[in-house]
Amino acid sequence: MEKRPYLSIIIPCFNEEQVLPETHKRVIAALEGDWHKGAEVIYINDGSRDATLHLLKEFASQDSRIKVLNFSRNFGHQAAVSAGIHYCNGDLAIIIDADLQDPPELFKDMVAIHQEKGANVVFGVRRERKGETWFKKLTAKWFYRILNKLSDVNLNVDTGDFRLVDRKVINAFKGLGEKNKYIRGLIAWMGFKQEPIYYDRDPRHAGETKYPLRKMLQLASIAMFYFSKKPLKMAITLGIFSLIVGLLLTVYVLVVQFSGIITTPGWASTLITIIFFGGVQLVTIGVTGEYIGNILDEVKGRPQFIVDEEIGF
Ligand code: UDP
Ligand code: MG
Repeated sequence: MEKRPYLSIIIPCFNEEQVLPETHKRVIAALEGDWHKGAEVIYINDGSRDATLHLLKEFASQDSRIKVLNFSRNFGHQAAVSAGIHYCNGDLAIIIDADLQDPPELFKDMVAIHQEKGANVVFGVRRERKGETWFKKLTAKWFYRILNKLSDVNLNVDTGDFRLVDRKVINAFKGLGEKNKYIRGLIAWMGFKQEPIYYDRDPRHAGETKYPLRKMLQLASIAMFYFSKKPLKMAITLGIFSLIVGLLLTVYVLVVQFSGIITTPGWASTLITIIFFGGVQLVTIGVTGEYIGNILDEVKGRPQFIVDEEIGF
């Protein structure tokens, strides 16, 4: 193989002291040999409150290929990955979770797919997800499928952020203006030549998930509202539907009133109308509010993350 690329590995870490020693060992082992032109490993410490930073600094002091970005606080997984993409020097970069759910042993195969098929993106597709709760599997499965239906972009189902990207994709990514990023969606949206690599997802090596329901919903919300305007259109449809129901109810009420069929006061229809329209209005305002909130986030122009320390760069 003639053209061997320089490779960056991007690893976001939030309170990962329990897995990091093993992760580091496996990543370093996976980078052994001369199948790449050289490699760097960028760890991003996303405001951990445990010994993560201490461990990362130790790795960096032992090996000049190791670099550490220390965030000033927790900015979230997507921000950490974005920072890695912005700081990396490789011709290629591979994004991987710190918890060994995605095997580092696949690095070489991903680079091979990039070279053999000329792919700009090699994205990991989860064949099986071992050791994850049925709740997570079920919500993930349906979430990706619903998102795909709503979105104008074809977002691959059953993929996470475990993927290889080349310099073209890295540069395009750096040009993206939005602060809230749904990275796997954005990379799919970019186009270029994208090839899958299938793998079984292992259970987390140690520690517990750093994605509680709150963070999952946040990510889902960004994905939904940044990749689709259909919820807004649905709000309009719902509005029109309720208008029609309202008109029919009005006709009914007038007929009943003037024909003298029923003389009891119409509390039922009044109540139904109030509840129905109240619900429709709240839903529509809520949907609109989500978009406005996101617009506010973007207009404020705050950075997606703040770096406290750069080690080894
Ligand atoms: N992570 C992060 N910041 C956060 C939450 C998570 O950098 O606020 C990192 C975490 O350390 C891990 C990756 O994102 O490397 C994926 O998190 P996790 O494995 O806990 O998510 P799950 O696999 O359970 O969805
Ligand atoms: Mg995980």
